[in-house]
Amino acid sequence: MSDAKRTALVTGSTSGIGLAIAGKFVAMGYDVAVNSFEPEADVAGVMQQLRAGATGRVAYYQADLADGEASHALVKRVIADFGSLEVLVNNAGIQKVAPIEALPPSDWDRIVAVSLDSAFHTIRGAIEGMAQAGWGRIINIASAHGLRASPYKSAYVATKHGVVGLTKTVALEVAERGVTVNAICPGYVWTPLVAQQVKDQAAVHNCSEDEVIRQVILAPQPTRQFVQPEEIAELAAYLCSDWARSITGSAISIDGGWTAK
Ligand code: NAD
Repeated sequence: MSDAKRTALVTGSTSGIGLAIAGKFVAMGYDVAVNSFEPEADVAGVMQQLRAGATGRVAYYQADLADGEASHALVKRVIADFGSLEVLVNNAGIQKVAPIEALPPSDWDRIVAVSLDSAFHTIRGAIEGMAQAGWGRIINIASAHGLRASPYKSAYVATKHGVVGLTKTVALEVAERGVTVNAICPGYVWTPLVAQQVKDQAAVHNCSEDEVIRQVILAPQPTRQFVQPEEIAELAAYLCSDWARSITGSAISIDGGWTAK
């Protein structure tokens, strides 16, 4: 399968980690389906950047993954357009930092819908074709918060633990069919999602944004360095290689030592 044509769908790939993974796949010559909830006109610059130097096809799919039907339909549209789907990266995710009693139920519902439910719906749409072809890669971007908890992140932590559980279960279901299913569990990666969190945490902890970075954000990460999005992209690329065929059902930490403690 090494030289075969591959199509990858990366959800939430107009920013941060998803954009880095989409960029890596483009550089590897994959056909890449890029997604976010934004209208295509708003992501024209990102798409231009991704298409520069592409040898495969790079197409944009607007879909709000808070909607289960839209998540499933996204996969079906990509398969109809490209003919098949070999790699699915469930990356879209959102965050809200608040004590549980102050977390609006609508925020809980949206976090669970975008980060966990959507992965169920996309995997449902993609897995049969992969299993029939005898080759596939599903990569779910979970988090160190899929393995550890932090206060004020109830919906996010619950969701990411759910993503790890979903990953293990689906991996067992297709283990004999050439499809691997893994979760990547990053520590703090410097992306717009974290920049927003710094602002939110500053309000919750009543301190400056610099103090939040030093004393809250990077406190659990022993390297005291943010992980870079490109490091996640390289790990995703490795998981897509044939050398990674025996890695399945794993929750792979890339967290500067956070979960070693
Ligand atoms: P980001 O905010 O930079 O990017 C999120 C992407 O998801 C964007 O492209 C956005 O358009 C898209 N998106 C958001 N809501 C969507 C929706 N309803 N439908 C479709 N697309 C939607 O975030 P990031 O930091 O790159 O995070 C990406 C993933 O990595 C998330 O699942 C996040 O939980 C996880 N993660 C991030 C970190 C970190 O420190 N940044 C650490 C661990 C895990």
